[in-house]
Amino acid sequence: MSTFRFQLAILTVAVVLGTAHAEGDHWRIKVSVPDSATLNRLLESGANVLDCCPHLGHTHVATTKPDAALLQLRGFQIEFVNEMPDPANWGRFYEHVPADYRDTYFNADQILAHFEGLRAQYPTFVTRSQIGTSINSEPIWVYRVGRPLKIGGTPENAFIIIGLTHAREWVSGSVVMHVATKAAQNLSTPQAVPFMTNQTLYVVPILNPDGYRFTWTNNRYWRKNRRNNGGGNFGVDLNRNYAKGWGGGGSSGSPGSETYRGTAPFSEPETAGLRDFTLSLPRVGAVVDFHNYSQKILWPWSYTTAAPPHRQMLSDTAALIEAQMDGFGANYDHGQGSIALYIAGGTSKDWFYDVKGSRSYTIELRDTGAFGFELPPSQIRPTQDEAWAGVVEMLKIMGP
Ligand SMILES: [Zn+2]
Repeated sequence: MSTFRFQLAILTVAVVLGTAHAEGDHWRIKVSVPDSATLNRLLESGANVLDCCPHLGHTHVATTKPDAALLQLRGFQIEFVNEMPDPANWGRFYEHVPADYRDTYFNADQILAHFEGLRAQYPTFVTRSQIGTSINSEPIWVYRVGRPLKIGGTPENAFIIIGLTHAREWVSGSVVMHVATKAAQNLSTPQAVPFMTNQTLYVVPILNPDGYRFTWTNNRYWRKNRRNNGGGNFGVDLNRNYAKGWGGGGSSGSPGSETYRGTAPFSEPETAGLRDFTLSLPRVGAVVDFHNYSQKILWPWSYTTAAPPHRQMLSDTAALIEAQMDGFGANYDHGQGSIALYIAGGTSKDWFYDVKGSRSYTIELRDTGAFGFELPPSQIRPTQDEAWAGVVEMLKIMGP
């Protein structure tokens, strides 16, 4: 549709519907963001921003047709991308689908049941502990996948793997289920793995359970946790709430913003729980925080464009992981977060690297924007396969 016809169409719809939100009457639109002032206006507009983190250039927004017209009337340059279901009803498409975690998305209960199934099936190798309690009083679990703890000798080398920090990034939950499953299967057939002798995976299936549940019941595009900030504003961006570079660029002090950093570093129980757990571990050789989308393997720093002290090591590791992840039909890139993506203060990878010296990464999974957060279920399986290949490579690199 030409821009001109599009403008006519949305203005007509706006006139006919007024401000009514007709169910199923949603569009994905692309908003031009030429400068940071426009970006701020967009973030404060209440628009439903879809991109994994808003940035200059173009940002995808899910909206009703009348609201698209309103954005345009406020001076935003917008372009129609596609029709879409009502984000408030998205979870209903998956709630009753017969469940194989390789082929469909799992809700929070299903993900946790899958991990409990692993614990029942591989009691020697899979254990769990609670690292915190969410704002809405839900336990946050970490699953340890590894050989039983030895007494004495070199302490285990921990590899922390995090899923569902950002609620709408559903495939990250699919991926951490697969990583834990493959690791447990391999540990139970030791001849199959020349690694994980002294390495232990610590997998957080759902760091943000309140937000994730909300995406199934209320708003498919919810990103933050469910902190009540007052004034009708909800949510802190957990990936702006870590201490390193907290308060810096790419984070917002406005409680309504998608990148609201919270009132202080680790103000949120979800991140504070993960912090305390991490600090209790003697060695943390590697960390991967799975997000989507953009197919990028990102290393510190994100809070500054200055190079980290171990830039070469971090870059070399990322290149090796990328080479493995590229074998399943998608092309990944790698780079320093602040340069390959954008500046962002208070992110997870900067903090883990800062306090533990870990090979610390954010991996942005599929895709590059064609489907974005609504990655089709047919792509879950290859995304899981490439993520596991990346994890295996990291286990080889990080050493015993
Ligand atoms: Zn994310």
